[in-house]
Amino acid sequence: MNKCIFCKIAKGEIPSKKIYENKNFFSIFDVNPITKGHGLVISKKHFRTILELPDDLGADFLDCVQKTAIRILEQEKAEGFNLINNNSEVAGQLVHHFHAHIIPRKKGDGLKFI
Ligand code: 5GP
Ligand code: ZN
Repeated sequence: MNKCIFCKIAKGEIPSKKIYENKNFFSIFDVNPITKGHGLVISKKHFRTILELPDDLGADFLDCVQKTAIRILEQEKAEGFNLINNNSEVAGQLVHHFHAHIIPRKKGDGLKFI
C-alpha cells in the first residue's frame, strides 16, 4: 500500500494543489490531462475500485464531484464535462486507488468516448 501514489498525495507525502476537499475525498488536476483542466476526484483512504467503496461515502463523493466540476467549468469556461471511473486494469485503470476523472468539454474539442 505504501507504494500507492494517490495514498502518498492523500497523506501529503507528495505535495499537491487541491481543487477541493471534504472529509473523505479531495480533487487535484491530472498530471497528464486529456483536456485542459482535467481533474481527479480521489478517496482519502485506499480502496481499489468503486466496488470496495463503502456506501456511506457516497454523499461525500458526489459533493466532491459537483464542487470540483463547478470550479473546473468556471476556470476553463467549459460547457460540460465527462465523469469517468475506470475499474480494474482491463478497463484502463492504471492507478489502483479509487478515483474518478472530470474531463471538461468544449464544443468542437474533437474528443470521442466509446
Ligand atoms: P486511471 O487510468 O487509473 O483511471 O487514471 C490514472 C490517472 O492518474 C491518469 O490520468 C494519470 O495521468 C494520473 N496520474 C498518475 N500519477 C499522477 C500523479 O502523481 N499526480 C497526478 N496529479 N496525476 C497522476
Ligand atoms: Zn492508495
